[in-house]
Amino acid sequence: MDPDANEEELWENICIIHPDISDENRSFLKECLKATRNVPIRPWTETDILVRSDRAGIHGLLDKYNATTGEYTLTRCTNAPRIGCWPDDALRAAAFLICLEETCTTKVDGIYIEYIPSGIVRYFKPTPKDRRMVLQLIHKVRDIDKGIFPEKPLNPPCFRCSFLERCQQNKPRRLSFLFKK
Ligand code: SF4
Repeated sequence: MDPDANEEELWENICIIHPDISDENRSFLKECLKATRNVPIRPWTETDILVRSDRAGIHGLLDKYNATTGEYTLTRCTNAPRIGCWPDDALRAAAFLICLEETCTTKVDGIYIEYIPSGIVRYFKPTPKDRRMVLQLIHKVRDIDKGIFPEKPLNPPCFRCSFLERCQQNKPRRLSFLFKK
């Protein structure tokens, strides 16, 4: 297919899906098409599949499923890291696998992550640590929903946090709180 015609067709579809999209994003589309020119885009038979886990209490839309191969893909519009995947994508993949284990009959070990602007596809198998992090995050979000402010982590990104002025976690505290039982 003529690459220019392809870009035109894609841009028209994007404008239908996002009528308010700015023309400036067209250059991003061009870059993505250039990056993926020699990389086979992950095939699919279904997109935006709703998956859920009642046990973990989460749900989400998975980007692609290929019924022919039984493979799942997350599509990201960020550049790929040097190796593996970004930490938030590891959590995303682990959360989707937790959901898929409840909604699918077949065992799923990992998930493909395609970093479109880099033209890179990586296969990622979430570890038990990634799954544990997902559960910890779910519990934290539930606490926040209940109005409980989360404990300050060891290295929070306070210097770029918009809540810095109001944050109770940065008020001076007696060292004894570290040793309380
Ligand atoms: S200022 Fe408070 S809310 Fe923001 S990162 Fe630091 S500890 Fe977390």
